[in-house]
Amino acid sequence: MTNEMKVLAKSRPEPGLWMETRPVPQIGPDDVLIRIRKTGICGTDVHIWNWDDWAQRTVPVPLVTGHEFAGEIVELGRDVEGLVLGQRCSGEGHLIGKTSRQSRAGKFHLDPATRGIGVNEPGAFAEYLRLPAFNVVPLPDEVDDEIGAILDPLGNAVHTALSFDLVGEDVLVTGAGPIGIMAAAVARHVGARNVVITDINADRLALAAKVADVVPVNVAEEDLRAVISRLKMKEGFDVGLEMSGNQRALDQMVEALVMGGRIALLGIPPGKSPVDWSRIVFKAITLKGVYGREIFETWYKMIAMLQNGLNVRDVITHRLPVDRFEEGFAAMRGGSSGKVVLDWTS
Ligand code: ZN
Repeated sequence: MTNEMKVLAKSRPEPGLWMETRPVPQIGPDDVLIRIRKTGICGTDVHIWNWDDWAQRTVPVPLVTGHEFAGEIVELGRDVEGLVLGQRCSGEGHLIGKTSRQSRAGKFHLDPATRGIGVNEPGAFAEYLRLPAFNVVPLPDEVDDEIGAILDPLGNAVHTALSFDLVGEDVLVTGAGPIGIMAAAVARHVGARNVVITDINADRLALAAKVADVVPVNVAEEDLRAVISRLKMKEGFDVGLEMSGNQRALDQMVEALVMGGRIALLGIPPGKSPVDWSRIVFKAITLKGVYGREIFETWYKMIAMLQNGLNVRDVITHRLPVDRFEEGFAAMRGGSSGKVVLDWTS
């Protein structure tokens, strides 16, 4: 093994990412070293590329970016047990503390000291990644590297979709970005009756219909009331999955839900956004904010579903060698792509 590696880094406080060379990380006794094979580009990476307010406040420069990955273990720390060299894996990119109340209760995803690889700590857009062995998720043969590279966002989708019982329910997903599309596919897989996904971007709605057996609705052209009667739903949707962060989408969702409906919120509104709370109170709606993935329950369920027929492969619209990362980011920034996967082995 050489001691140098190729990385995509945020090395200057301005828009862009740069391909550079860095030393291969040294691992500690509880870490593994992963040879990265494939990575996914996340909306978060686009924020970091754009160097918006959030990125400027959050990301230290210089930093190796990226947090969606699949690879192979090539080195084991001295105290690591239960993993072997050559193991294909992905991993949880949230590095957690183990002293908070929530961590000690086993709710690792709620640890307030969480740090993210590729956001606060060196990330996965690199030929090699150092990761605590605790965070490693081994991949079975049925989950290949490109699916392994999108388990982080699929995990967000699974965590959101499994927030409420969906069996036999009518589900509304607002926002047909890749995570919204995958959440709709999960809702279908676990037995929802009708799954409607809304957006105002025709390309994304077409992609949603390609990925899963869902009803795409362009809310710039069709009202949800009309959809409810077209699908012969009696009173409205039972469960809403809000994936857009768009205030109007949340308003439409509240209007289209049954009394006592439930909403899981993953989309992040830009700053404070006006909400008609009286509607939520009088409709007796339950709201749940969703953060990250349950460590490691979401991973367990997600991999089990992938082994059992959940198919989200078509959400990947671009597959590129890492040297063409700029094309991948351009596709993401265009706003109509699905997932973009970069190959680090070519
Ligand atoms: Zn991500």
